[in-house]
Amino acid sequence: MTEMFKNLIAGEWAGGTNASRNINPSNTNDIVGEYAQGTVEQLNDAVAAAKAAFPAWSRSGPQERYEILKKASDEILARKEELGRLLSREEGKTLAEGIGEAGRAGQIFAFFAGECLRLTGEALPSVRPGVGVEITREPVGIVGMITPWNFPIAIPAWKIAPALAYGNCVVIKPADLVPGSAWALVDILQRAGLPKGVLNLVMGRGSVVGQALLQHKDVHAISFTGSVSTGRKVAEACIASSPMKKVQLEMGGKNPLVVLDDADLKVAVEAAVTGAFFSTGQRCTASSRLIVQSGIHDRFVEACIERLKGVVVDDALKAGTHIGPVVDQSQLDQDLKYIQIAKDEGGKLVWGGELLNRETPGFYLQPALFTQTTNAMRISREEVFGPVANIIRVKDYEEALSVANDTEFGLSSGICTTSLKHAAHFRRNAEAGMVMVNLATAGVDYHVPFGGRKGSSYGPREQGAYAKEFYTTVKTAYTLA
Ligand code: NAD
Repeated sequence: MTEMFKNLIAGEWAGGTNASRNINPSNTNDIVGEYAQGTVEQLNDAVAAAKAAFPAWSRSGPQERYEILKKASDEILARKEELGRLLSREEGKTLAEGIGEAGRAGQIFAFFAGECLRLTGEALPSVRPGVGVEITREPVGIVGMITPWNFPIAIPAWKIAPALAYGNCVVIKPADLVPGSAWALVDILQRAGLPKGVLNLVMGRGSVVGQALLQHKDVHAISFTGSVSTGRKVAEACIASSPMKKVQLEMGGKNPLVVLDDADLKVAVEAAVTGAFFSTGQRCTASSRLIVQSGIHDRFVEACIERLKGVVVDDALKAGTHIGPVVDQSQLDQDLKYIQIAKDEGGKLVWGGELLNRETPGFYLQPALFTQTTNAMRISREEVFGPVANIIRVKDYEEALSVANDTEFGLSSGICTTSLKHAAHFRRNAEAGMVMVNLATAGVDYHVPFGGRKGSSYGPREQGAYAKEFYTTVKTAYTLA
């Protein structure tokens, strides 16, 4: 019988009226589990539980919070193979990628356990004699979290860990498509000793549970990761609510990777192929726009095709698989639609793009690489969110930089070059939140800020010590001595 996973409300596991099936994209006959679909009433109960827990939790000492977060980190790291397997089974990234992501969630909790002990304030004299000024940070309150399907444990981890470290209470609604990893994470945290109501999980549809979270008057802040179109609705709802909610949005990308004539060809091909296609290209930081200088262009295309010939697309859980399946039918339809759009626009498909049959029924797509594209085409301007990349030929560095920046997005931007001058100029002038030199645009550390500019992000950065900008609010106190 399929196992049923429930919502966590006020420290109790509660079933919903309906459940949704979590299906393995590598084998659609394999049901990972049935996950409760929360109701609006359950969401309201979860917020009420968070509100009731907040006074005590926000005043709990840093030692208590440190111990809970550290304990959770230890369990995640000890179980990373099992958690990684669950993640790969529900989302379709390879086992190595799944285990890597689970390990990262453990490292994030270790980092924020330490941050509990490092929160500081400032004391300084007032400009008025005899008066002292103290600047402190306090928790924001009740934080609602809405997360996407492509990093099912890392994104909930990098939102929940700082929220708890700085004394907030949480209601999280994970992606409907892959709730299993978030469920496992919440279970670990609850058993690590969180008081009832500090962390609540309500699974279900964005239009029901997500919408109710956005509209709830007792929620003080919303941290969202997902598409630009949903992000815009989230921001509008946060501003329209009374009182207005603090909001943080991490959204899409169309990340450029520039390859200059003087690049190390091997380094550039590795950055391009892994950045564009690994994790099935389903990363907001994927290197989906490859901007290549004329002198190296043909050698680069040839070497990418050679590299792609050795890439195995198969069951995510199988040893030897480099790229797993696409997450579901609707994402696969979107990928195929964009492959057709690129062809219709005049792009030349030089590798892949076809559906693949494997031992089990799944959403297998050979990564697609296009040449002869321009930056004006839809394939260069819109996020596909799949294993589809296109090459834009440019004459020099100046044109490459201008094409790289000519986008609505601004998450991650990369360059492959052996020129110190161009690398330094690109770092300074790339209009993106993250810049990579001789590295893929995807693949980031957990202890430093993550986020973008322009249409990719809105509000304070996530991750690292910078996460406190969102998860705390500043108080300035004046005292007459
Ligand atoms: P999505 O926008 O469809 O869904 C994201 C979340 O929002 C889900 O939990 C969904 O249920 C919820 N939601 C949907 N409609 C809602 C509504 N009306 N009200 C409230 N909540 C609602 O995105 P997705 O398909 O899950 O994820 C893919 C997108 O996420 C891509 O655009 C990708 O670039 C982006 N992403 C960005 C980052 C980043 O950090 N910048 C990281 C990962 C993914």
